[in-house]
Amino acid sequence: MSPKTADLHVHTHLSDGTFSPQEVVSYAKKIGLSAVAITDHDGVGGIEPAMEFSKNNQVEVIPGVELTAEDEKSEIHMLGFFIDWKQEWFLEKLGKLRQVRLSRMKEMIEKLNEAGFNLSLEELLKESGPTNAAGRLHLAQLLLKKKYVSCIEEAFKKYIGDKAPYYVKKINLSYQQAIEMILKIGGLPVLAHPHLLHRDELIPAFVNAGLRGIEVYHTQHQNKISKYYERLAKKHNLLITGGSDCHGSGKGRILMGEVKIPYQLVEKLKEAKKKLNGK
Ligand code: AMP
Ligand code: FE
Ligand code: FE
Ligand code: ZN
Repeated sequence: MSPKTADLHVHTHLSDGTFSPQEVVSYAKKIGLSAVAITDHDGVGGIEPAMEFSKNNQVEVIPGVELTAEDEKSEIHMLGFFIDWKQEWFLEKLGKLRQVRLSRMKEMIEKLNEAGFNLSLEELLKESGPTNAAGRLHLAQLLLKKKYVSCIEEAFKKYIGDKAPYYVKKINLSYQQAIEMILKIGGLPVLAHPHLLHRDELIPAFVNAGLRGIEVYHTQHQNKISKYYERLAKKHNLLITGGSDCHGSGKGRILMGEVKIPYQLVEKLKEAKKKLNGK
């Protein structure tokens, strides 16, 4: 039997993926994963349906989230694993974050329209399907559909990427608050795709704020980048995670399966979770 593997970063259509929670589980099963973490942006609606469906599918569903924090320079994505996601205060806080998300999408559309685009929030919401966390990937998909761009990457590069002219900051959540929220909900805070963030100088500050791990393996981390972050994780005594950041077909091709981490890393997370809860 081949060794057990996991993918600890997957989106469903309850954020900006295209797969339903059930499709995520089926796909994970098809490609032979033993465990998959559902990590939607600022929402946890995909966890329960995936768990329910996975009962008969022998794929372990790990409850997770990817919170969007920011500072003056960048958007900072903070993953939380093994969260006790049902607590009322947490659901309320996520709801508020998603409201800010929506007003920010409105602002981005207004800014684009002022520059001559012809877009509406209604179209965006139609494009974004069942989610209540519309975001920039949906806007990129709309720009593609309306032929303003010829691929998703172009939309981010020219128009809505973090450094592009029509980007609007949101969300008024600092990384300290994001880490604190994840700890308070009993989860392990892990820095998502540090190579995309490109702010390694902040890692000691993240650790001070309570960070427990780094996403060392990611579809956009080449081998030598992963090796580098593996060393950084060891240096700071952090857990190591990894995942595909699959958005279904939302970014073109299906990424699940491109990053498979050894299940032993999941076991390490579980040990850390036990310690966190003082068990
Ligand atoms: P938002 O949560 O609205 O800020 O949007 C974040 C989403 O946009 C995530 O799914 C990111 O992976 C995606 N994203 C950000 N920059 C890029 C990029 N340059 N190319 C493709 N997707 C991107
Ligand atoms: Fe996303
Ligand atoms: Fe992310
Ligand atoms: Zn993600």
